[in-house]
Amino acid sequence: MTQFIDIGANLTNKSLVQDLDAVIKRADQAGVRQIIVTGSSIEDSNQAIRLCGEYPDHLACTAGVHPHHAGDWTQDSVDILHRLADNTCVRAIGETGLDFYRNFSPQDAQVKAYRQQLELAITMKKPVFSHQRDAHHDFIQILREYRHDLVNIVVHCFTDTRAALFEYLDLDCHIGITGWICDERRGTELAQLVKYIPDNRLMVETDSPYLLPRDLPQKPRNRVNEPAYLPHIVKSIAHFQNRPVDRVAADCLKTSQQFFSI
Ligand SMILES: [Zn+2]
Repeated sequence: MTQFIDIGANLTNKSLVQDLDAVIKRADQAGVRQIIVTGSSIEDSNQAIRLCGEYPDHLACTAGVHPHHAGDWTQDSVDILHRLADNTCVRAIGETGLDFYRNFSPQDAQVKAYRQQLELAITMKKPVFSHQRDAHHDFIQILREYRHDLVNIVVHCFTDTRAALFEYLDLDCHIGITGWICDERRGTELAQLVKYIPDNRLMVETDSPYLLPRDLPQKPRNRVNEPAYLPHIVKSIAHFQNRPVDRVAADCLKTSQQFFSI
């Protein structure tokens, strides 16, 4: 059976965590054997680590502070994250980056939290799980300062322009693609771009419970996205890359195993 790794799922979200046994079982039955739980705040990263302890065969996680929570960033945050990321189940620093679309946190706080998490990743020699929305210019300018010393970085849920994609690839970033590509209204540009992502830089994610693929044949009534739908996203990517699904899946699996050391 074809195997998959979902590199970004917010399993700590209450719509998923309350039903986690079943969510993981459905994922497993769909071939999604491993899931990287996204840590988006200190508290959330703690919870992600706890979940990994409960499902060690299926889960690993990231530890970080999402730009939406950058307003909570304090002097102690780096040390706390460092301690959390010492856990073997923590395979990347993040989710970190810049989100000037929503601006839930002040931009200077976002920049500070982003810089310090990049520095932490360098210190710990861990890869970075990053988020960028409507902030490409500032995001990549800062990244350029650190890129040389970073092991690896994935720009998760990539939905930006062709020019942005090529700038990320020039910096040897990995690219995470979600079910955004399955959206016939918003995903058309992305659909044209996936063929430019090298096999060894492409990874796939659901970003559950968000971004339920719009063209899913049987949508769940609660509209909650979950890792079991990852193969559907891979099918879309394969279609737009004009490659066999199994090939795309195998390449994504290998790339994800290398990126997260699993
Ligand atoms: Zn994100």
